[in-house]
Amino acid sequence: MKRFFFASFLSMACLLSQAQSAPRSIIRVGLWTLWHDKEITIAPNGPAQFRTCAACVPQALKNITVKLDNSGLTWTEDRVQIRSATELLITGSYRIAAHQESLTLTYPLRITAQPGALTIAATLPVERYVELVVAAESGAADSPESLKALAVVARSFALAPRHGHTGFDVCDSTHCQWLRWRGSAAAHAATLATAGASLWLRGSRAAAYFHQNCGGRTAAANEVWPARRGTALTNLISRTDPYCQRVGSSEWSATISRADLTQALAIDGLSPPGWKTLSVAERGESGRATILLAGATKISAEDFRLAVGRALGWNRIRSNWFEVSAQGDSFLFHGRGSGHGVGLCQTGAAEMAREGHNYREILAQYFPGATLGEVTTGAEWQSLTSAGFTLESSDSKDAAYLPSLSRALSDAESRSGLTPQGTITVRAYRSTPAFRDATLAPGWVAAFTERNQIALQPLRLLAARKLLDGTLRHEFLHVLVEEQATAQTPLWLREGLVEAWSGDASSQAQRQALSPGAINEKLARAASEADSEAAHQAAGWYAQQLLNHYGRVQVLAWLRAGVPANVLLALR
Ligand SMILES: [Zn+2]
Ligand SMILES: [Zn+2]
Ligand SMILES: [Zn+2]
Repeated sequence: MKRFFFASFLSMACLLSQAQSAPRSIIRVGLWTLWHDKEITIAPNGPAQFRTCAACVPQALKNITVKLDNSGLTWTEDRVQIRSATELLITGSYRIAAHQESLTLTYPLRITAQPGALTIAATLPVERYVELVVAAESGAADSPESLKALAVVARSFALAPRHGHTGFDVCDSTHCQWLRWRGSAAAHAATLATAGASLWLRGSRAAAYFHQNCGGRTAAANEVWPARRGTALTNLISRTDPYCQRVGSSEWSATISRADLTQALAIDGLSPPGWKTLSVAERGESGRATILLAGATKISAEDFRLAVGRALGWNRIRSNWFEVSAQGDSFLFHGRGSGHGVGLCQTGAAEMAREGHNYREILAQYFPGATLGEVTTGAEWQSLTSAGFTLESSDSKDAAYLPSLSRALSDAESRSGLTPQGTITVRAYRSTPAFRDATLAPGWVAAFTERNQIALQPLRLLAARKLLDGTLRHEFLHVLVEEQATAQTPLWLREGLVEAWSGDASSQAQRQALSPGAINEKLARAASEADSEAAHQAAGWYAQQLLNHYGRVQVLAWLRAGVPANVLLALR
């Protein structure tokens, strides 16, 4: 999905050399891990390259077929030559297909051979990954605050060190976090609004989990994964959830024959020999089954749920919170909730948001004792509310800049004659790498604005470079302009008016070499800082001409409705 954000420049030497003990800012995601594909095809979808080793010279990608064979993998280009390799590296824009499914991607891809299947791993920024998870997992009941809570949980999970995979960090199935390789505007907004924040417990970044519906009480982590998934979870206790209970009953029942169960368990190697009876042997503190007794064999209830889900579908045994009784040669399960029950209950979170709770309150309900910390340091994110805006920062010293922000906002209001329609969020990052990792903006950008959300390089850095007041005013102007803009408003006018009101636009009477259409192109796809700056100046020139000739009231009307073609022609 194409998006545009408005950026200001840092206009300074590269800041990126600062060494940081950063958490990973990219993540390797295993693609189609449940399919165990032995053959895939890849075709270019625009410029694309491939290599057979990291140090090899890239070649233009043609249509290739990759197959698993005894010694590794082989690949065929345009059906002519067959060659073997230990790895294939794809970059650029490509289409990958297997098992009647295909995806168009632009993430660097690495294909290797594992016993039994090809391993396909895509490398992407963590923030992009979080957006994909939120997009896949969001439902009709969700709203911005529940999606923000989900984004924090998905990010915390992503940053946890290990998920039991080799060749990549996380898989794209529900084993880790399910995703469909598609983003959405709502998921993007929730991800950006929480970028740089993860859950922390007693000084450590916490692994976090979510599930669809806890059935009225969440599960303690050790009920589901006995000492398996690391220490950060020991604090995740069982807790009653009044919110999902208010939404309605989550009870379910299923009748499954012993033959079907035997078959499902056999696939996972769990089938108890000659079993006839099934009962719950042990329950955890929330009431969920932890150990089942099949005949004389003990089975983990979670392994049982996953085996049945994979073989017979996830809508049968929906949770571990059930009673089971024999009914002839079948078993009747009666239970409540959906999913493992640990961490965030999505149904409850959506209801909390509907009742007016914000995402921090939602996280406090499902992760008691956890704090919302900056991803690298764990320093708590604070919200400082002022008239017209909220400053979010993990650096307590940033409160000193509140007067500068207030001044910049009122300056932007008086220059444009516009007032904010809603609360503006200003999110200040504590380092340039943190800003870059969180926003995916290049390091030469000082700040950027997307709708009513402003992201800033460190405030002390902007202040030291004497860029603070100008940058803040510029970004506030962007929010004011964006609130008025419609689908009819061209990009050059949105950027140009901000330039003009910032006082950065040239008022020279000479004609502008770039056409408005060319400016739009350059604004949307600037290759460098210089390119981008030239486009901004040209946009500012046009906007300034309009303001000079027609006045602010008329130009504001055009901001909403678009500029008539004859007006533009007269300017050129
Ligand atoms: Zn701008
Ligand atoms: Zn996984
Ligand atoms: Zn719940």
